[in-house]
Amino acid sequence: MKDVYLSIGTNMGERYENLQLAVALLKEDENIEVVRISSVYETAAVGYTDQADFLNIAVHLKTAVSSAEMLKICQSVEQELGRVREFRWGPRIIDLDILLYNHENIETESLIVPHPRMYERAFVLVPLVEITPSPLCEQLQQAHELLQQMDCENEGVTLWGPFNKSSTVS
Ligand code: AMP
Repeated sequence: MKDVYLSIGTNMGERYENLQLAVALLKEDENIEVVRISSVYETAAVGYTDQADFLNIAVHLKTAVSSAEMLKICQSVEQELGRVREFRWGPRIIDLDILLYNHENIETESLIVPHPRMYERAFVLVPLVEITPSPLCEQLQQAHELLQQMDCENEGVTLWGPFNKSSTVS
């Protein structure tokens, strides 16, 4: 089984429900075991800033599927949620990015892992670090170190709430 870390973000419609639905769709896939989900963080948009704030989570899952297959699964979840995007960096119902795939370095036409921008973005690193308190691989150690150097308040990342509202364990 491969360890995969995803980043999921949304800034359109019912943002919390979008996250719930995306995770439910991942759980429905018989090839995926969702191991851990971070708290929900709210983040001011970066890049094109004239848009609604995002909610972001990180998800750790285990799977036997290939990285290419994993990308297809992420894209099918995006399609299922009816993602409509007019331009790059613009608002989106849901965005699923593969941050890490079994700690491998992958570079194909359609997939780059570790995700090329993950180390620059506090909204990716904050939830990822939360669900990896003991970083066991080089990429996760780097994520922890880089986050320590960032000022998350200035990066606009704040805790929004637990992923499972009914309990404190997310
Ligand atoms: P975006 O929706 O803006 O995150 O970009 C989606 C595109 O990025 C897709 O066409 C993917 O093929 C490509 N891509 C490259 N690396 C990754 C990755 N690690 N996770 C998700 N999509 C990726």
